[in-house]
Amino acid sequence: MFETPAYAARSAAQPLEPFTLERREPGSHDVSIDIMYCGVCHSDIHQVRDEWGAGIFPMVPGHEIIGRIGQVGSDVKTFAVGDLAGVGCMVDSCRQCAPCQEGHEQFCERGASMTYNGTLMDRYTPTYGGYSTRVVVDAAFTLKIPSGLDPAGAAPLLCAGVTTYSPLRQWNCKKGDRVGVIGLGGLGHMAVKLAASMGAEVTVLSTSQDKEADALRLGAQAFASTRDDSSFRRLRSHFDLIIDTVSAPHDYNRYLSLLRPFGAMVLLGIPPEPSPLSAGALVMGNRKLAGSLIGGIAETQEVLDYCAEHGVVSDVEIIPIAQINTAYERMIRGDVRYRFVIDISSLK
Ligand code: NAP
Ligand code: ZN
Ligand code: ZN
Repeated sequence: MFETPAYAARSAAQPLEPFTLERREPGSHDVSIDIMYCGVCHSDIHQVRDEWGAGIFPMVPGHEIIGRIGQVGSDVKTFAVGDLAGVGCMVDSCRQCAPCQEGHEQFCERGASMTYNGTLMDRYTPTYGGYSTRVVVDAAFTLKIPSGLDPAGAAPLLCAGVTTYSPLRQWNCKKGDRVGVIGLGGLGHMAVKLAASMGAEVTVLSTSQDKEADALRLGAQAFASTRDDSSFRRLRSHFDLIIDTVSAPHDYNRYLSLLRPFGAMVLLGIPPEPSPLSAGALVMGNRKLAGSLIGGIAETQEVLDYCAEHGVVSDVEIIPIAQINTAYERMIRGDVRYRFVIDISSLK
């Protein structure tokens, strides 16, 4: 075991503070990564505050990890010391069940090992995330970062990127499709960039009027304020696909009315409380309501390679770790342009 400086929450009622955690020495299948950057996802806030149920404390969040390989286990052939590498939302799974075999490790029948607020597959050893200087991960769950991608801008691809890319692919987003993106935050701005790169005609649906210019710069063709009722009248039955990235409770029925017949709305945001759903909102127009959870390991590599090919990275605001609690408050207010990324050198 070795010690790693980190930031942790000691309980759901406390802010994050400096913490030292113990990690395993790399085994024969593992790599050790010296972390350079870690993105800040709204899921970090939900979990650190027990908004999705009781978490495992102390909790070291962070599942958008980029760094350089520091050590490789004797059986690892896929990475060499000095390579740029990434870790997303999962660090292991059973690898044998049908979902694992099909590349959907996030649906492992035994439950995947999440990068933090989880346990290893022994169901006993807690996992700790990327708000720390080093991580030890099985090479099979480590991603290759293509050259040409800026490391800080690429970190959010490991969650926000794959989480938005996956439903766009599942729902066959293509040239000319009308795609609505609800919420222009970390996931939302990646959904805009990726859908635009696939040729879709993107509209941002946002509570923040002052994000209009950014929405257009990011690749959207249009912006609609959801604080303005006339937006809902104007865009009625307009969209083929709506990607909902909102982190707080909101009225799904209103947004469903913006789908054309047979259109689909995919929920990515996971608000802490449920929201009522009116059957009529779906029945009147054969509309579909779906959800999507991150993506598998192969799909995460696919989005990284896709982004390198299409010149897509996240728009980031780099912060020192000491600003993490303020960054959380800003995210809750919708004030992130458009992903906070922690410079982990501020922790060393
Ligand atoms: P974020 O950066 O904080 O963005 C969320 C955006 O939602 C805000 O910027 C804001 O956009 C909008 N919003 C916030 N509060 C709102 C409210 N009360 N009413 C309406 N709109 C509101 O968060 P994120 O990191 O993108 O994550 C978004 C959600 O996705 C979270 O719930 C997170 O846990 C979840 N998530 C899910 C997956 C998955 O696998 N499905 C993966 C990662 C994250 P505007 O200012 O434009 O309105
Ligand atoms: Zn995330
Ligand atoms: Zn499995």
